[in-house]
Amino acid sequence: MHRLSRRLFLVALATLAVATSSPSWAAGKLKVVTTFTILGDMLKNVGGEHIALGTLVGPDGDAHVYEPTPADARALAGADLVIVNGLGFEGWIDRLVKASGYKGPVVVASAGIDALKTEDAHDEHDDHGKAEKDEDHHHGELDPHAWQDLANGRLYVANIARALVAADPAHADDYRRRAEAYDHKLVALDREIRSRLEAVPADRRKVITSHDAFQYFGRAYGIDFHAPVGLSTESEPSAGEVAALVRQMRSERIRALFVENITDPRLVQQLAREAGAVIGGTLYSDSLSGPTGPAPTYLDMFRHNASEIAKSFTS
Ligand code: ZN
Repeated sequence: MHRLSRRLFLVALATLAVATSSPSWAAGKLKVVTTFTILGDMLKNVGGEHIALGTLVGPDGDAHVYEPTPADARALAGADLVIVNGLGFEGWIDRLVKASGYKGPVVVASAGIDALKTEDAHDEHDDHGKAEKDEDHHHGELDPHAWQDLANGRLYVANIARALVAADPAHADDYRRRAEAYDHKLVALDREIRSRLEAVPADRRKVITSHDAFQYFGRAYGIDFHAPVGLSTESEPSAGEVAALVRQMRSERIRALFVENITDPRLVQQLAREAGAVIGGTLYSDSLSGPTGPAPTYLDMFRHNASEIAKSFTS
């Protein structure tokens, strides 16, 4: 065999070995790994056919308490680009990146947004694991659920487009064009939701959900969200906190009560029982639904949540 063609053959074999060890990667595409479904959907919209996408936490999954697997580490090791939410949402990502040996860029999709700070004091932890404690404390300061405001979603998309252009300049025009078309849809939906919710009298715009995932939604559309559980699904409310919320529901006549796709519904069911309220339905907070559910895309999720909330105000 000619020397050059033999070398090419060996290179092809090596490439084949890599391809078979991560079967989801398609040859010739930019390999992007992201942490959860909402970023995954944005990436599909902007990246289109030029990217091969891996999403670590799947539909209806809870990224707050996710435990990465060896397969996740392998996916990262083979990636060209990693995109995360940031703001402390994926508390496990730094360790996973380190463990995987991935050395490429880790892009924070929420960079540049006006982050909300939590008013709640972060839970005191046990004394074990000093480094972890500091990390958790830092994470407790900012509300990570920034995607729940379409204006922030537009910034996410701009950051994602910039990252794809930098990683794969050959398709820069495509990425920019797709991001712009998608951005128009976000703007149009934001306008539609705003007009629908602004029609509701301000003193009726109060909602109870499981965990505190909708403060950005509330700020964007003038809605007061209350939740028995804090910013992370990891925390648990005390009996006193639950009782206080029931009193508030009664005194303020809060009738909009929702469970979430990613959290245990029992706490909200208890609130409904004790306050004599009815659960309005399911909101999609930190994850999209599967393809046959009501929120398979970011736009569908927003349309679904806004429509459920608007219905509960007028019922
Ligand atoms: Zn959350």
